[in-house]
Amino acid sequence: MGSDVISVTEAKRLILAAVKPLPAVSCDLADACGRVLAADVVSPFPLPLHDNSAMDGYALRSADTEQASDNNPLSLTVIGVIAAGESTHGLPPLLPTQAVQIFTGAMVPPGANAVIRQEDVTIHEDQIVLTRPVRPKESLRFKGEEVGEGDTVLTAGEVLSPAGIGVLASLGLKSVQVATRPRVGILVTGSEIVTDFIHLQPGKIFDSNSHVLTAALQRMGLPPVFRKSCVDDRETLRQTIGDGLAKCDVLLVTGGVSVGKFDHVNEVSAELGIEEIFWKVRQKPGKPLFFGSTKDGQKLLFGLPGNPASVLVCFYQYVYPALMKAMGATEPFLASAHVGLHKDFAKPPGLTHFLKARLTAGGTVEILERQGSHMMSSFARANCLAAIDEAVTDLRKGDMVEIHLLPL
Ligand code: AMP
Ligand code: MG
Repeated sequence: MGSDVISVTEAKRLILAAVKPLPAVSCDLADACGRVLAADVVSPFPLPLHDNSAMDGYALRSADTEQASDNNPLSLTVIGVIAAGESTHGLPPLLPTQAVQIFTGAMVPPGANAVIRQEDVTIHEDQIVLTRPVRPKESLRFKGEEVGEGDTVLTAGEVLSPAGIGVLASLGLKSVQVATRPRVGILVTGSEIVTDFIHLQPGKIFDSNSHVLTAALQRMGLPPVFRKSCVDDRETLRQTIGDGLAKCDVLLVTGGVSVGKFDHVNEVSAELGIEEIFWKVRQKPGKPLFFGSTKDGQKLLFGLPGNPASVLVCFYQYVYPALMKAMGATEPFLASAHVGLHKDFAKPPGLTHFLKARLTAGGTVEILERQGSHMMSSFARANCLAAIDEAVTDLRKGDMVEIHLLPL
């Protein structure tokens, strides 16, 4: 394959086309948050399971209350109490002018068709006094009003959120079918990077990329299964990439994908059976991004340009959707929106810019200072990336721009 510089759109298309969805596995509910559902979930019963009270108050017959007013107070006799968890099956129906004290979530007794809140009555011994009518169905929640028996409540391809876990639990499920987790590895390259102060000699820098990627993967519930660093030596690099490819489905290599004399990642990967799908994207940061796979498509390799902000931008724009697609997610990309710019912005044409940005409380997007691809302190303040198309040059305050929300 040639090495044409392709557009961001084309790069994303090629990545999604190359990713193969992984098979389903059963997963305990306790471990399922953040994972992608592999099968639709159909409710075996209606929700709510029974008609119940939405308030702490009194269940009654609304017809009894039609004439109640401040000038015509109505007394009802409280004949019993129903707490949440008690059954009302088999109780005799309420008779005219009777009421039952009831609590939120408790089953409605036969004959009652409304509840009045306890704050809206006065109590005299076994009587409650109402000064207004109670509408039929007031403060009641009905069997099946949320979910009918046989309804699809969650769909394959959805990411399970805490709320989704709640839905599964309310159906009594203890486990759920989710996609297998891809095995992801991290290899940071560069003879300059060190991990300890004692090695921080002139010219050296601390490795941050492996920490950035580990954290981002952990957020996705995908702790790396392989994590290594490697000097810019061809032979060592070949061995380490080979090791990573043997252990992972997706290998993330940082650094060494540019055109420098010590950038060997592409060549070495090719020697190990990785076929280039693309190299170089019309974007800033991260132009030298490399993406390839084994011939059978089972293993993917991303060569992420080494500057830390390029690494994280490329992770969220390309690696994240690839991993989400591998897990069968219907919406593999970060959530996006269009919002107004909070001040003018200009860039040269030619490259799509991914800018560290903040969605403000006022609903506008602020492009942050210090956009350099080596600068992470501004990224640490960002809550979104603004994506400014390659053709765009001058933007005015209030112009709509696309933002991608970062999972924080
Ligand atoms: P490269 O893509 O190898 O040319 O690296 C580009 C820039 O990113 C250089 O300034 C590197 O020092 C820096 N860099 C590469 N790897 C890392 C890393 N693991 N942590 C922090 N900075 C890095
Ligand atoms: Mg390097």
